[in-house]
Amino acid sequence: MSTSYDVINPTNETIVKNVPHLDIAATDDVIATAAKAFTTWRTIAPGERARLLRSFSQVVTDHREELALLEITNSGHTRGNALWEADNVANTLMYYAAAPERLFGRQIPVPGGVDITFKEPLGVIGIIVPWNFPMPIAAWGFAPALAAGNTVVLKPAEYTPLTAIRLGELALLAGIPEGVFNVLPGKGSIVGNRFVTHPLVRKVVFTGSTSVGKQIMVGCADQVKRLTLELGGKSSNIIFADADIAKAAAGAPGAVFDNAGQDCCARSRILIQKSAFDTFMEHFEVAVKKFRVEDPNLATADMGPLISKKQFDVVESFLDEPIAFQGSAPTGPGYWMPPTVLLPKNTQSRSWREEIFGPVVSVMTFEDEAEAIEMANDSEYGLSGSIWTRDIGRALRVSRGVDTGALSVNSNSSVRFWTPFGGFKQSGLGRELGPDALDSFTEVKNVFISND
Ligand code: NAD
Repeated sequence: MSTSYDVINPTNETIVKNVPHLDIAATDDVIATAAKAFTTWRTIAPGERARLLRSFSQVVTDHREELALLEITNSGHTRGNALWEADNVANTLMYYAAAPERLFGRQIPVPGGVDITFKEPLGVIGIIVPWNFPMPIAAWGFAPALAAGNTVVLKPAEYTPLTAIRLGELALLAGIPEGVFNVLPGKGSIVGNRFVTHPLVRKVVFTGSTSVGKQIMVGCADQVKRLTLELGGKSSNIIFADADIAKAAAGAPGAVFDNAGQDCCARSRILIQKSAFDTFMEHFEVAVKKFRVEDPNLATADMGPLISKKQFDVVESFLDEPIAFQGSAPTGPGYWMPPTVLLPKNTQSRSWREEIFGPVVSVMTFEDEAEAIEMANDSEYGLSGSIWTRDIGRALRVSRGVDTGALSVNSNSSVRFWTPFGGFKQSGLGRELGPDALDSFTEVKNVFISND
């Protein structure tokens, strides 16, 4: 039986749109269409596939305002973020548009003939997207998947389907053939799970919570199905006393409160060297109080509301630890929460260990480099993080010592479409973006041709 879902604007709690959900039979129909489309998409000349991806990129750019507005309304993202997100889709498509013509194999010296390798597409790729960054996370899957010659079935999160649905329409407008890129709004337990169980879906790309990721990993084992997982995080912002403390403090709110903290890369643990604690906190308080939480349509907004009442309640449950200071937030309708800085009692405190996925950060001190690395690594997660120091040797030692996939030194930015992104430990499996992503959307085929 088909159902539907009322999409809510988190800024004012009004219903934006009712979106029909696919059931299993409808999901199977789309997967069959994608499997049929694969037989032709994989054979399209590399230059033509590249041209179609460039055209898709251009059409996204032409609709960036419309896509951004949809995301502001559906997800409460700030205008600045939403425009960046639409541009990130266009940029990721343009980056991977260069791939079809450069998907090189190797020629390997062997006796008795010639040995060559091919990078073959896998078939239908199932992409399951969370609600926190609906556009970019979708594109990090579909752009390299399509470039490598696969077709795609994509399931957006229940809360945030609108931009994905529009991207599906824009793909057709750009000339991507029917059936190549398909968007299937629906429930995780129905549409998402069908990607796991359907034998024609050859790979699942999942971004979301670690608990659902583990279930998907178990499900994929049954068919030895390929899998990329991008899961949770509890990243550290490690600040040494020799750093530019004012700069580190000025950047720290954005590093954790951006997208209302609903960011798997959020630096939600600040580790500050003891001797610099007072200076840092003084600057940090000023920066947090300046962080503007307001109507996300305003160009001045630094942060909007949380995505849902459910998420609000989860985040609020962390506010029972000692609060150092808070910023401000609007009152009235909408899921508004002020940025909050906690001083947990010790490293066993809940706010220090669990992913909060909201505008809450915990601060603790460390004595020296060894303790900073030990504290940062004392987590089952390992996704991103920052290191602030003026000592280049220390920057290198700590970068090598911290077990996470995407680190920045004297910066808080972890995601660039040119470079690999993914997690250590329970933060994930495999890498997205950069040159690495293409390997996870292809199989290496080895062909030996005899001289005889
Ligand atoms: P979630 O795991 O509940 O849902 C993610 C997606 O999976 C949704 O589309 C959902 O419908 C689907 N899903 C749910 N149950 C499923 C099932 N049994 N089978 C198949 N699909 C299923 O996560 P969420 O609440 O949407 O997102 C928040 C979480 O995502 C956070 O924990 C966050 O850290 C993580 N996240 C990680 C990254 C990353 O790159 N590592 C990025 C964004 C979000």
